[in-house]
Amino acid sequence: MSPVDEKNELYELVKALPKAELHLHLEGAMSVRTLIELAHKHGVQLPPDIHPAVVFDFKNLDDFIRVASLTFSVMLDEDDFRRTTYEMLRQSASHGARHVEFFFSPSSHPVMSYKSMMDGIIMGMNDARQEFGITSFVIPSHNRMLGAKAGLEFLDMVQSYRVPEVVGIGLEFAEHPYPPDEYRELYQAAARAGLRLTAHAGEDGPSTYVRSCVAVLGCDRIDHGYHIVDDENLLSRYKHSGIWFTCCPTTTRHTTIWKDPSDRSHAIHAMLDAGLNVMINTDDPGFFQCDLTGEYLSLGLPVEKMVKLAVRSIEASWLDDKTKLALRAAWEEEAQALVNKYNTLTSVSV
Ligand SMILES: [Zn+2]
Repeated sequence: MSPVDEKNELYELVKALPKAELHLHLEGAMSVRTLIELAHKHGVQLPPDIHPAVVFDFKNLDDFIRVASLTFSVMLDEDDFRRTTYEMLRQSASHGARHVEFFFSPSSHPVMSYKSMMDGIIMGMNDARQEFGITSFVIPSHNRMLGAKAGLEFLDMVQSYRVPEVVGIGLEFAEHPYPPDEYRELYQAAARAGLRLTAHAGEDGPSTYVRSCVAVLGCDRIDHGYHIVDDENLLSRYKHSGIWFTCCPTTTRHTTIWKDPSDRSHAIHAMLDAGLNVMINTDDPGFFQCDLTGEYLSLGLPVEKMVKLAVRSIEASWLDDKTKLALRAAWEEEAQALVNKYNTLTSVSV
């Protein structure tokens, strides 16, 4: 088999592997084409450099947030939320995702009621499930830049329209100036309300922020978490803790000091080598123009490790334990059948 054929086989295998995707933002998943079409629909003026072939060059997290805010400005009715949800899940399913838990930022859409946004989102989730068999939860996420008091109002809003599709909350936007400890009251109240907890941390914030998210906020998942590699003690403490890290290789190129996900010194490799529970995601695939298959491949891992990463990713989800166990067993079988199908990988055991 030629190297090109082997590469194609590897791509097809990784694409087909059953996976969970748990770090994905509704607004950041919007394609540039949809951004332009929605702007046209609502008569919203976009900057002149926005066209279907545009590739954004994000210098840092703040630059990214500024550009991402364009998507907020064009999501102005219930159907926009249905459409963007459906398109995001369709894209994720086309790269092997079977279960998705995605963020959306209610405070970024001040002209919309929470109920309208949620109704549109749920329609998109139902349409995608019927068409592609993909299941999903939605994670309303607090914009930490609005502060702690606004966080409590955010929680009231989430509680005012409690739907089964919402099982937890998140914390996002510029991390470094807003330490997690400030949101303690929000997270404690959310836990009392029976919500699961995750937060963006350790992306441009230090390892102490990761520790606070677990120890102070009570998170069982950390979105990104890369700077945990700066603290040996924390690395070994979280090895058997059940804490999961939702990592996003392409994002690290744009917003962190780790620019090459295939480099063995990259934080994601250090986390994997330390034995942390890591799973792989796209984060903002519309703006970064990435996909789940490419994210797995970007790490340059041996095939058997990619297979294990994919099959284990469901363990990090907020599905109930019985469902997760059943899916994990089914995915292992399916992954083994895929491995057997592709000639290059016949010796791999999952
Ligand atoms: Zn994110």
